[in-house]
Amino acid sequence: MGSEIGVTVWNEFRHEREDERVRAIYPDGIHETIAGFLRRAGGVRVGTATLSEPEHGLTEAVLAETDVLIWWGHRAHEEVSEEVVTRVQEAVLRGMGLVVLHSGHYSRIFRRLMGTSCTLKWREADETERLWVVDPAHPIVSGLGEYIELPEEEMYGEPFDIPPPDELILVSWFEGGEVFRSGCVFKRGRGRVFYFRPGHETNRSYHNPEVQRVIVNAVRWLGGDARSERGGR
Ligand code: ZN
Repeated sequence: MGSEIGVTVWNEFRHEREDERVRAIYPDGIHETIAGFLRRAGGVRVGTATLSEPEHGLTEAVLAETDVLIWWGHRAHEEVSEEVVTRVQEAVLRGMGLVVLHSGHYSRIFRRLMGTSCTLKWREADETERLWVVDPAHPIVSGLGEYIELPEEEMYGEPFDIPPPDELILVSWFEGGEVFRSGCVFKRGRGRVFYFRPGHETNRSYHNPEVQRVIVNAVRWLGGDARSERGGR
């Protein structure tokens, strides 16, 4: 479809159906909120996929049209099939971009691509998070100021058991004193993985315009590379 970047937003889609507090923030699911702001940003062709669909919505045909896959999961990581994890891993190695959000740090696909435990510290206390931009020239933080401040988020703290990132773009400080590598890029084969921390299900972070800006920027940056790797499809 011309120069549009093909994006698939994948969500486990459990909290929104089972918890009224989450449904109040994301009535159609986190995936639809993310798909919505990506469509409004333009230049993308956006689809969604969820855990309960056949093959979790991530068939070979869907991945063949996906330049960037966005991943949100939390309580059902172990329900994602081995076959789909391997299929997504192979797509990344061929050049697909992967954006792993928040609790996706512990998804099977992220752990597979990192090769480490991906454990971290955490605390649910609706604390202020300040995500400091540590690489202001990076395209992923284009248009941002010195930091993004989120009034209420879950805390994630170091040590975060990941390999040293190829690029470190954002570092978070939390009200309770912890710090965390909250925006990290990893090269895997011809593809790239961007881990971005915010997005606890009972907080409003995907409605924050600066968080949206980071995700839109990441899709454009990862997607441009993915398209050229595949011959500009
Ligand atoms: Zn969370």
